[in-house]
Formats: sequence, structure tokens, C-alpha cells
Amino acid sequence: MASDATRIVSIGEIVAEIIAEDRGAGFREPVRLQGPYPSGAPAIFIDQVARLGHPAGLISCVGDDDFGWLNVERLRRDGADTSAVAIHPDQVTGTAFVRYRDTGERDFVFNIRHSAAGHTRVTAAGRALLDGCGHLHVMGSSLFSPPLVEAAEQATRHVKARGGTVSFDPNIRKEMLAAPGMRDALGAMLRQCDLFMPSGPELTLLTEAGSEEGAIAEVLRLGVSGIVVKRGRDGASYHDRNGTLRMAAFPAVEIDPTGAGDCFGATFVTCRLRGRSVEDSLRYANASGARAVGVRGPMEGTSSFAELDAFIAHAGGEGA
Ligand code: ATP
Ligand code: MG
Repeated sequence: MASDATRIVSIGEIVAEIIAEDRGAGFREPVRLQGPYPSGAPAIFIDQVARLGHPAGLISCVGDDDFGWLNVERLRRDGADTSAVAIHPDQVTGTAFVRYRDTGERDFVFNIRHSAAGHTRVTAAGRALLDGCGHLHVMGSSLFSPPLVEAAEQATRHVKARGGTVSFDPNIRKEMLAAPGMRDALGAMLRQCDLFMPSGPELTLLTEAGSEEGAIAEVLRLGVSGIVVKRGRDGASYHDRNGTLRMAAFPAVEIDPTGAGDCFGATFVTCRLRGRSVEDSLRYANASGARAVGVRGPMEGTSSFAELDAFIAHAGGEGA
């Protein structure tokens, strides 16, 4: 495989997502459903990198079924390298059912750990993808079982040993926190990453410090060089040893927020690896998140640079 020092790789779950059309609590009654949509946080992230025209690949596992091929075909169409997505002969592709509440909260029913995604390993194809890859992105949602934790740590060691960098988004779902070993694995990833990308409340979930300022100082003391905090409709902020940069969100009509954080993160990381400034990268990441929330389906709102340029120009160049 061609070595590309800037290639971005992620490892973790591919799932088909099914969305309840009507808001309400959970799935304990019949509801109208829409889908399947291609999904899985690492898959959305990698699709977004590929849509930006940047080399990107995913290490994952799907079943030999329509939900698996739906995802693989989308990733390929968008330019992602799927050579390390294993097709498991007798496991079914993972699924996520999501229903929004009126409060904006979400309830999920996941089948991931006991699906093909639970068989994700760093295979020979995965090692080939990681060789010469410049950056690995790890999602906390992918640390759902001991073999997956080991696979993510193996990929992290592989990339760091070759001088690459690692970003980490805790991407915590309340339904998943009890998974065996997940909490310890989240803490371990925090200590190994170069760029930490929590959503607002996740910032203090893995630290001793309970305040935002305290948590930022604590994470930087661990050796993490930068922190990006995603703040939904309030935009985002970047923190490093030199200080803080805050940026407001672009105005957006929120139709489906799932996947916005993944698009945001992928756009920020890609822009930085392409040499853009923190400020420019935050602006493009905010634009990517804002576009993503306006579209139903977690991977349906990924953006190309041309689309982001047009969106930013239309908004007058700045967040609200
Ligand atoms: P998820 O894990 O569901 O993908 P997240 O919690 O990781 O999401 P968010 O903070 O919800 O991430 O969203 C990521 C980014 O998308 C925000 O930092 C912001 O730039 C943009 N964004 C999200 N919601 C809105 C909104 N309502 N209006 C404008 N921009 C938004
Ligand atoms: Mg997230």
C-alpha cells in the first residue's frame, strides 16, 4: 500500500443507524422508523476526512449483509480506504437505534459489542494501513470490549512509534459506560493522545478537577498538547499552553445532531494536518458541524472543502 505520511486512520465500529421519526422516550412502544443510514462514530469521522479529499482509512469489521455493504459502499464512494474493513462471514453488522426526546437528549439501543464490529482487530491489512499513517483518531465509543481496547492501544502504539500523532474524542454514550474496562480505557487514551476533543460535559468526566479551567490545566499537564471542546450550538474552543481561542457556532437549523461532533473533529484534524492555523481550523470545523446538524442521518451531512467554503462565504465568514 502506498505510504502517505499525512494519511488519517481510525479504528472502531461501523453500524447501521435507524432513527425514530417522532420524538419521545426510547423504544418501548411502536414508532415510525427511518433508515438504515451508514454510521458509527469512527466511520463518520473517516468519511468526513475523505470528503475533504484527504487520504483516510478505517480499521473495522462488518457482516456480509446489506447493513455492512451500505457502509462499505458509502465509504468507498467518498474516497476512504476500506482495505482494512473485514467482512465477517457469520456475524451481523452492528446497529444503533436512536430516538430524540423533546429536551434534545437521545436514547439509543445499540447492538455493537456482540456484532461484527466486536470482531474488529488490527489485521495485516490494518497494519499496512497504519504503516506510514501520520495520524490516528480514537473514539471512546470504540473502547467497548477488552479486544477493542487492545486493538485501539495497538494502533496507537504503532502510529506513535513511527512519529505520528493521535487524537481522542471520548464520545461517551450513557448506554455504553458500563461496558467492561471502558472507563479505564478512556483514562488511558487521554494520557496517550496529543489532541483531546471532548464535548462540553465530557471535559470533566475523566479528570480529578471538577471545573472546566481545572480540567484543562490537568489535561495539559498530562502531556496532551491541545484540547478542543465541542459546545454544540455554542460553537467550540481550543486550549493549549499558550491560551484559549473561542469561536461561536454558525447559525443552523438542528434537524439531527448525531454525527456533528464527528464531522467537526474530522474537519479540525484534517485542517491542522494540512497546515492551517488553529483559528482557520476551528472555523472550518464549526462550519462542518453546522452543516451536519442540518441533515437527517449521521453520515449524510459530511462536507467537501467546496461546500464548506460556500457555507462560510454565505454566512459572512464568521460564526454567529
Ligand atoms: P455527537 O457526538 O452527537 O456527534 P458532539 O457532542 O460530539 O456530537 P456537538 O458539540 O454536539 O458534538 O457538535 C459539534 C460541533 O458541531 C459544535 O462544536 C458546533 O461547531 C457544531 N454544532 C452542533 N450543534 C450545532 C447547532 N445547533 N448549530 C450550529 N452548530 C452546531
Ligand atoms: Mg461526539
